[in-house]
Amino acid sequence: MPIVAIDGPAGSGKSTVARAVADRLGVAYLDTGAMYRSVAFAALRDGIDAHDGDALAKLAGNLDIELGDRVLVDGTDATAAIRGPDVTALVSTVSTHPAVRADMVRRQRQWAAEHGGGVAEGRDIGTVVFPHADVKVFLTATEAERARRRQRDDRAPDVDVVAADLARRDALDSSRTTSPLRPADDAVVIDTTGRTVDDVVTEIVGMV
Ligand code: C5P
Repeated sequence: MPIVAIDGPAGSGKSTVARAVADRLGVAYLDTGAMYRSVAFAALRDGIDAHDGDALAKLAGNLDIELGDRVLVDGTDATAAIRGPDVTALVSTVSTHPAVRADMVRRQRQWAAEHGGGVAEGRDIGTVVFPHADVKVFLTATEAERARRRQRDDRAPDVDVVAADLARRDALDSSRTTSPLRPADDAVVIDTTGRTVDDVVTEIVGMV
């Protein structure tokens, strides 16, 4: 079974598209953003500073993360909390630490070995986690479209606040030294602006 790597910024349609591609192919799906969100959730739980790389690395190393219909962090259902504003505000800072990333990447490769491949989505899947992935896609959309989608999904009251949050996370994710958000040299860049999910999914399944 091949690996399909889907990367892109928040609101590019990544999660919806990646999930649907995995469904259509009948293969496993991995949301790596949920893993970094789980670490941020546990940091909040334990009162660990998002800038304290050593403490976060230790936390990540011992953390039990179960991804499925529900997300369990050390056995606690964190499905809603990892999408909440507190975790969203912290997650990109937590994700800058190389030791935290190394731990997540190790788990992601283990996931692929256990499932014999599948569809994985995130920021560094095609560049770092699976540089030899069979299919690499980088999804984009205009800033306005990404903010509108996130506002709709999160039922947020103010699109400008959502847009500011996306811009802040994009800046952090793109400028960090370890595994910055960028398309792999051999990724196919797909602009999802104005396209239906079905249309984009069909294009990617066709590539596979
Ligand atoms: O995909 P999602 O928006 O849930 O990701 C949340 C955050 O987790 C991103 O903004 C980024 O900081 C981090 N992340 C990452 N590498 C990944 C997936 C997510 O750094 N592969």
